[in-house]
Amino acid sequence: MIDTDCIFCKIIRGDIPCAKIFETPSVLAFLDIAPVRPGHALVIPKAHHPALWDLPDEDGRDLLAALKIVGRAVVQATGAGGCNVVMNNGAPAGQLVAHAHFHVIPRVRDDGLELWPGTPYADPQAMSRLAEAIRSRI
Ligand code: 5GP
Ligand code: ZN
Repeated sequence: MIDTDCIFCKIIRGDIPCAKIFETPSVLAFLDIAPVRPGHALVIPKAHHPALWDLPDEDGRDLLAALKIVGRAVVQATGAGGCNVVMNNGAPAGQLVAHAHFHVIPRVRDDGLELWPGTPYADPQAMSRLAEAIRSRI
């Protein structure tokens, strides 16, 4: 499946160049053009699907296998101590490109990048109510 207007589909087709780092028949990995930190990579399925839950299971398995390979290589090549693997799903979550993709962001200790400040539930019942609401949709 290809979306002719999608920037990542254009990269997969070779219409737009990229700094490619890994490729399989179903997955492509390349450096993000505007990295959070140098070495920030994107790992994407070659098939166009907008979000995580749209991905066929086989693509999901291939992506996880690629993430393991790319994640380790990014961490080693950048001298980082670890990395965040992040996926934005939907515009409110910060997804700008509607072609499912994982970010691999190399991290070093005290690099100042603060993700997801947590706040405990104010209402002790709210957590179990939400868990039930989510369970009922699975
Ligand atoms: P999102 O916000 O959708 O999760 O992330 C999209 C990412 O794609 C952004 O980090 C952005 O910098 C990157 N990006 C957008 N256009 C291009 C491009 O043409 N080439 C590359 N290499 N990265 C891109
Ligand atoms: Zn696409």
